[in-house]
Amino acid sequence: MLAESLKGKSVIVTGASKGIGKGIARVFAQHGAKVLVVGRDLKTAEAAAQEFVAAGGTASGFSADVTKFADMEKMAKAAADRYGGVDVLCANAGMFPQVTMEEMSPETWDDVMATNLKGTFLSVKACIPYLKKTGEGRIVITSSITGPVTGFPGWTHYGASKAGQLGFMRTACMELAKYGITVNAVLPGNIVTEGLQGLGADYMKGMAAAVPLGKLGAVEDIGHAALFLATREAGYITGQTIIVDGGQILPESPDALAQM
Ligand code: NAP
Repeated sequence: MLAESLKGKSVIVTGASKGIGKGIARVFAQHGAKVLVVGRDLKTAEAAAQEFVAAGGTASGFSADVTKFADMEKMAKAAADRYGGVDVLCANAGMFPQVTMEEMSPETWDDVMATNLKGTFLSVKACIPYLKKTGEGRIVITSSITGPVTGFPGWTHYGASKAGQLGFMRTACMELAKYGITVNAVLPGNIVTEGLQGLGADYMKGMAAAVPLGKLGAVEDIGHAALFLATREAGYITGQTIIVDGGQILPESPDALAQM
């Protein structure tokens, strides 16, 4: 079985207390990995970990802020202490306050960059000493279609941070290749998270209508793509992206969708 190689592996998922990160963490736990569930709020992170433990997995919560390097170092050490090393880092934590450029404060721009882009760098940097030791470390970054492929009003800062993650990845994968570490990214489309559900059924229906597969993605859809990139069998793939969006970026006009 493809994901056999994840059994017993030590996996860190940042931003795993809810949303996509929780879905990624759940999929890894279901495949026998030992998962450090990271978020700033310890209670929520521990509650998520407890769900995975109740389902037969191995997981525990950890409080850390991806914008703080000292936190990232403590996070990597905690995974090593609890689970014997760090085999996989899923750099997933992110924020996306929607605000147009005209309304955006310079501080909001900095906050989004600090979490999404610098946070990716800091989490990766802190894990390198441990990933190196495995000889086959894996880094999976959660980027987005927004920025690398598409645009959306209110998300100049977010789009720049998500495209920036891919620029980071393309050099990071070269620097880390000598250690057998691969660095890849998953680009989600519109995924159903707790936050999105709050926008109501009509809103969700409208969004699903823009997707050729006719539905929004589940958090586990991102988890399965991340899991594949973390397998031993994916070891010859590095610096690449997988778009997981139900075909959302493909229709060249609303008419293309209407004619399906
Ligand atoms: P979410 O539901 O808001 O969850 C965000 C998670 O990140 C939470 O666990 C949160 O926990 C944690 N977090 C936020 N800031 C953090 C920080 N500074 N340090 C550590 N943890 C932090 O978000 P999501 O929708 O699942 O998005 C997750 C990732 O997927 C992001 O990178 C986002 O850009 C990407 N993405 C999402 C979608 C989508 O449709 N949802 C689409 C494309 C890409 P705490 O608040 O406790 O820290």
